[in-house]
Parts: sequence; structure tokens; C-alpha cells
Amino acid sequence: MIRFASLGSGSRGNATLVSVGNTLVLVDCGFSAREAERRLARLDVSPAQIDAILVTHEHSDHVGGVARLARRHHLPVWLTPGTRMAWGEQELPELRLINAHEGIAFRDMHIQPCPVPHDAREPCQFVFSDGAFSLGLLTDVGVVTPHLREQMDGCDALLLESNHDVDMLARSPYPVSVRRRVGGQLGHLSNAQAAKFLDSIDAARLQHLVAGHLSDTNNCPDLVRETLAAALDCESHWIGVAAQDAGLDWREIR
Ligand SMILES: [Zn+2]
Ligand SMILES: [Zn+2]
Repeated sequence: MIRFASLGSGSRGNATLVSVGNTLVLVDCGFSAREAERRLARLDVSPAQIDAILVTHEHSDHVGGVARLARRHHLPVWLTPGTRMAWGEQELPELRLINAHEGIAFRDMHIQPCPVPHDAREPCQFVFSDGAFSLGLLTDVGVVTPHLREQMDGCDALLLESNHDVDMLARSPYPVSVRRRVGGQLGHLSNAQAAKFLDSIDAARLQHLVAGHLSDTNNCPDLVRETLAAALDCESHWIGVAAQDAGLDWREIR
């Protein structure tokens, strides 16, 4: 059985818990160590239970609290060499460099890193599996590649970026350069891109679809649910949202 939960998701911080059997990993920690501890407690997790922190890329909404949380609780940190290089020489208790193209067997868990187009040095996202079921995490991606489609195809659950509505972004108060960055090939997935991605993969096994990394300014949860539900031909209330403050409570894949 796979379980997952979000401590929070959005441009002010991201962190996701994934558990398979007795193995628990935290993917990213964009919250301060103290705030992360508070949010972990909300999900009944003590930091000492975490077996590793996986880092997707060096943007502060993903790494903000990683080094401090790792030092405070002696947690190993896993990341690609490019992310390590771009992030800088933070003092970490234990470091493991991962190959973004190579699957990792970690106790009860299989972890498949997937390289993504995003404006970071060597960003990757992950597919977790327990042998029977799989969970795809896909945020901070400018465009969906054929490789990503292949990796996420047939997943049993997905936490999928649905960052912005294209029209809201076009009308937003953001400077032109930021709008171009967000909407560009190395930026973030729009609602329409997320819907198109769902349409392009085999989604028949999906037990959970959770939208993440929603923009506060250029999106709204109802619009996300409506757009993604149309792609899956399901009720909009079935679509979950990992919110910036509230996160997402534990979900199970079984
Ligand atoms: Zn991000
Ligand atoms: Zn990013």
C-alpha cells in the first residue's frame, strides 16, 4: 500500500510525504524547519520517522527548509548532482547523489526519478511504486515530454501541477518577464496543459488525482477541478487539491 500527503503546495512552499510499508520519504521542503515540523505533526509524523528527503530542484519553494530540517533530525538528503551544484554547499548530515535516469530500490519502495523541463539546473520528479501500485509526482514542469507521459502512464495516483489559468496569467499584475517565464517551456503547467496531459495517458487506474502548485494569483481551485474533471470525465469534487496552507490529508492507494 502506498500513502501520500502534502504539507502544502504552491509558490510559497512545497513538501510531500510518500510512504510504502515502513519506508517514509519527504519530497522537498520549501517551508522553514519549524513550520515543516508543525505541518508534519498535523499529519501525525515526527521528523525522526523520515528515512530520506528527496529534492526535486533547487528553487527556494522546494529547498527552503531542507538543510536545516536534515541537520536537526539527521536525515539523509538525495538529489541530482546538478541540483547539488546549483543549490550550493549547504552543510548536510548525509548526502546521496542520484542519477535522474536510474530507478532506485529503497527498502519497500521503488523510486523512479524523471527528468523534467524546468528552469533549474537538473530538475527531476518521481514515480513511487510498491510493486503493485504507483504514484506519480509531477510539478514544476514547463511542458510534458513523451518520456514523462511514458513514466506516468497507468499510474494509480497522481499529484499533478495545475499552476495557472492561461487567461488569468495574461491579465495578471505580474511583470511581462515573469508571465513569460511561468507560461514558458521551462515554467509551470497550466490547467489546460494538465488536462491535455491527463487526456494523453492511460488514466483508467487512477484512484486519486490531486492538483498541486496552484498559483494564488492566477488560478482558483474550482476552475482547476472543473478543467481536470472534464479531461477525466468525472465529478469535479473527486479531484483533490493540495493547498498552500492546508496541504492535503493522507490518501491511500490500495
Ligand atoms: Zn515550485
Ligand atoms: Zn521550480
